[in-house]
Amino acid sequence: MTVLDVRLIKCRSAASASRLPGLDMAVNPYRGCGHSCAYCYAQDVTRFETGRPWGSVVEVKVNIVPRLRKELERGLKGVYGVGTVTDPYQPLEAEHQLTRGCLSMLKRFDAEASVLTKSDLVLRDVDVLRSWDSVEVGVSVGCADDHIASIIEPGAPPPKARFEALSALADAGVEVYLMAAPIIPGLSDSSSQLRTLAELAADAHVERIIWDRWNVKPIASSRLGAALEGASMSGEWRKGANAASRIRAELAGLCKSKGIDLVDAF
Ligand code: SF4
Repeated sequence: MTVLDVRLIKCRSAASASRLPGLDMAVNPYRGCGHSCAYCYAQDVTRFETGRPWGSVVEVKVNIVPRLRKELERGLKGVYGVGTVTDPYQPLEAEHQLTRGCLSMLKRFDAEASVLTKSDLVLRDVDVLRSWDSVEVGVSVGCADDHIASIIEPGAPPPKARFEALSALADAGVEVYLMAAPIIPGLSDSSSQLRTLAELAADAHVERIIWDRWNVKPIASSRLGAALEGASMSGEWRKGANAASRIRAELAGLCKSKGIDLVDAF
């Protein structure tokens, strides 16, 4: 999905209170996401441009870095999650560098931060991330199969590039984790797929995996169904509903055998 409608906007605040566990504040330089994941439920939650295809419209908060600096000057407010709603390293970040600016500002104020992305573009900012004790980076891969990923995550870099990013960040001394999410029943939850995820994580020197099931929401469900039907994969993904306890048990066994901590997302 090419972002057809890029809107440069000014935000009134850079950070907002977060309700996600472990995060106090949320920083999202972009609204909408060019990674265009079929299962993404950000549109269900935010109601952003629900009449337009997800990923076709992105708002770019061009003033977010100076705004954040002003807010930080008033005092730190705990742990800052960067990319809690949409991906901070989506394609437009290559040009606008707002995530880089926000991270540089957070580091300058010695803030604690947690970044989550699905892109190896994060490697561009390894100079900011290294030697920053209180930052962690999560890279999201819920399905390591390149073919399936190309259908359900059409705008994101392939899983291989994301594992390479994890490995390079870990080698640079950055604290990393694999966000194994979403694991979609019937699509990416087979024993061999879970084993591949755990093996690739271990190869990338990951010591912690946070996993999450797919949160089924109406818009995302309909979008995922259409994407899979378009690829002649209809039906199978619906059959594995309520598989969360099995997925968790399998992941736990795999992680234990590789010395990786497994954490439930919620
Ligand atoms: S990368 Fe994240 S925010 Fe962007 S479309 Fe995919 S799931 Fe949604």
